[in-house]
Amino acid sequence: MKTMKLAVLAGGVGAARFLRGLSGVTDPQSLTAIVNTADDFLHFGLHISPDIDTVCYTLAGIVDEARGWGVGGDGTACLEMLSRLGEETWFQLGDRDLALHLTRTRRLGEGAPLSAVTEEIRSALGVPVAILPVTDDPVATEIETPEGTLPFQEYFVRRACRDKVLGVSFRGAEQARPAPGVREALASAAGIVISPSNPVVSIAPILAVPGLLDAIAESGAPVVAISPIIGGRTVKGPAANMLRDLGHEASALGVARLYEKLATTFVLDTVDAPLAPAIESLGMRVLVCDTLMADAERARRLATAVVGLIRP
Ligand code: GDP
Ligand code: CA
Repeated sequence: MKTMKLAVLAGGVGAARFLRGLSGVTDPQSLTAIVNTADDFLHFGLHISPDIDTVCYTLAGIVDEARGWGVGGDGTACLEMLSRLGEETWFQLGDRDLALHLTRTRRLGEGAPLSAVTEEIRSALGVPVAILPVTDDPVATEIETPEGTLPFQEYFVRRACRDKVLGVSFRGAEQARPAPGVREALASAAGIVISPSNPVVSIAPILAVPGLLDAIAESGAPVVAISPIIGGRTVKGPAANMLRDLGHEASALGVARLYEKLATTFVLDTVDAPLAPAIESLGMRVLVCDTLMADAERARRLATAVVGLIRP
């Protein structure tokens, strides 16, 4: 098993599956996930951090495998009672999941920063990978649509991504500072990986935190980006539609263009092999391999290939 420090920029499901693969083929204690927080929102007064939760549940081995988020086999008693009470139930809140939101919210209310609370949760769930919110400061994704500007979860969950996306912004990002440990993790990394996460709403808000792009550039480490788009489609979620709506190509090449200045190597799926020359001509090394993490073994194989790019 290889031990070298890796920093992984992470959204939710795509990132979590990749991180689980990576933690199977490298020393998990040498991994740091730097996770998007711009999906975070308040619901019933609870602070929910969807991407941190997905990464935690997956690495703790308790995720709902079919959905890729939430706790496997979780109960719905709370949601059912909320429904009887006439409350909103568009956001799925499993019973066990709720316990985590209660804990996070209580600790934040006591004045603990999100990074400290996340560390407590990580440790309690027995996750061996360091999980850092990119920032402790509030940042919120807003989606501009023909119906007006929607908070991210309104667009994503309540309206099921059906609106045309006219623009995306990250409120608060300009004032945000990297959370403790983020700069250090990037500076000491032998390699930095951009997960196969949504480039528009998972990776972009991480990079929007002032200092992140500089920290990545200054690290001098190879930066490997993995395409979340396979054969012009997302595995899950609105990334392809969002790219198209915003005037990008919904393909591995379109994603590569977004990471052109940042990534040194781009990983794309075998089905997209014909795009490799165009991506190479952007000035990146290219690896073509199976990138669909349909099961844990395939995620490990992708992770092995990525590790090989960093220390051949
Ligand atoms: P979210 O916050 O849960 O939506 O998660 P992410 O932003 O991390 O992940 C969404 C993106 O991950 C989508 O664009 C998917 O296409 C991509 N994704 C999910 N599973 C896989 C996979 O197995 N392989 C690749 N290459 N991309 C994936
Ligand atoms: Ca997310």
